Amino acid sequence: MSSRILPNFDLLVPNSTSEAVNLLAHYQERAAILAGGTDLIVAMKMNYESEILISVSELDGLDYIDFDPNSGLHIGAKATVSQILDNADVKQHYPALWQAANVFATPQIRTAATLAGNVLRGSPAGDCSCALLALGARIVLQSTEGKREVAIEDFWTGYNQNARKPSELAIEIIVDAPQSATGSAFHRMTRVNEDLAKLNGSVRLDMDGNVCKSARIAMGCVGPTTLRLPKTEKLLQNEEITPELLAHVADMVPTEISPIDDKRSTAEYRLMVSGVVIKRLIEQAATAAN
Ligand SMILES: Cc1cc2nc3c(=O)[nH]c(=O)nc-3n(C[C@H](O)[C@H](O)[C@H](O)COP(=O)(O)OP(=O)(O)OC[C@H]3O[C@@H](n4cnc5c(N)ncnc54)[C@H](O)[C@@H]3O)c2cc1C
Repeated sequence: MSSRILPNFDLLVPNSTSEAVNLLAHYQERAAILAGGTDLIVAMKMNYESEILISVSELDGLDYIDFDPNSGLHIGAKATVSQILDNADVKQHYPALWQAANVFATPQIRTAATLAGNVLRGSPAGDCSCALLALGARIVLQSTEGKREVAIEDFWTGYNQNARKPSELAIEIIVDAPQSATGSAFHRMTRVNEDLAKLNGSVRLDMDGNVCKSARIAMGCVGPTTLRLPKTEKLLQNEEITPELLAHVADMVPTEISPIDDKRSTAEYRLMVSGVVIKRLIEQAATAAN
């Protein structure tokens, strides 16, 4: 039941990452991390309760977006969707992520919402999450025991569930540097731009001329988590991108997804459009790569 009144909670505002992970080690499941709050506070107004919120607002040095041609893209856990949109390196080297940020909600939400929060929320409708799955991101988690990295395809373990342990703070998202002929693209379908996706998709291709050396394809709102489409990816591997291959791809995509009817769309509609969305994204990513 939705309410304007939040349940009671204690707000803790650590000044450093080490203080934050010490608090997490102590409170474990009793605490939730508060970043922009655009998911968490909404959930708390519905039915989610957490006795303690640990805010990241005063943690130093986690709002960076750094790009290096060798080590790739490093995004601190406090970096917002607005920062992604304003970043020239993201726009040039990771167009799928930039395009996802570009259609994400409204300027007000983008200014508060973090990229890390989008991934940690684990919604199958997450837009930047979908782009990050196609791009092959990794999530860096820190606890009092040290740091570990989790590949994004291993991160979401079920609907709204992920591999983060209660004692861990997400501190960074990493995306490898693109190769010389890498292209990517993202698209989402919504009723109105302020709404969440009824379906989204993202593609990253490594090309050699018109031949696709390898592909990563992600689709959201078609299963309990944002999914990769491995059979469709395999169809593309070491193949020239021709109209015949794209027609084959469009037929394969619906066989890899299991959408449901919900308030944003129907399973039937999602199945019908999914192949065309991915076909167009492949064309776009191939053009961007060459
Ligand atoms: C009006 C509206 C429109 C929206 N439109 C879109 C949209 O177009 N596309 C889209 O994808 N989403 C949309 N969202 C959802 C939301 O804005 C995003 O998912 C956003 O990226 C969440 O980030 P946040 O910083 O607000 O996270 P929060 O709400 O603070 O946290 C979300 C979850 O992540 C966890 N978390 C956050 N940071 C960390 C961390 N560093 N370590 C561990 N756990 C962490 C929190 O504990 C919580 O479980 C919308 C939301 C609203 C209210």
